[in-house]
Amino acid sequence: MPSKIALVDFEKCDPEQCDQGICLAAKACKRKLLIQEAPGEIPMVNPALCRACADCVRACPRQAIKIVQM
Ligand code: SF4
Ligand code: SF4
Repeated sequence: MPSKIALVDFEKCDPEQCDQGICLAAKACKRKLLIQEAPGEIPMVNPALCRACADCVRACPRQAIKIVQM
């Protein structure tokens, strides 16, 4: 397991405030490890593979993703 991963803050995340329900942070993850099942859904990180690169953190307009120590 990596020591750091991205974590979505469910309180801050609001897909409807993003690109017509599309998660901008999920689009920014080049490895496709931040998955949004459908528009309007809160995205989920694959914790086993996330590299904590923070591309998703920078892409989220609501500061809803943090890099956390496991
Ligand atoms: S994580 Fe950020 S970019 Fe993605 S749906 Fe939530 S608020 Fe929008
Ligand atoms: S930290 Fe990097 S690898 Fe992990 S979900 Fe975000 S963009 Fe993807």
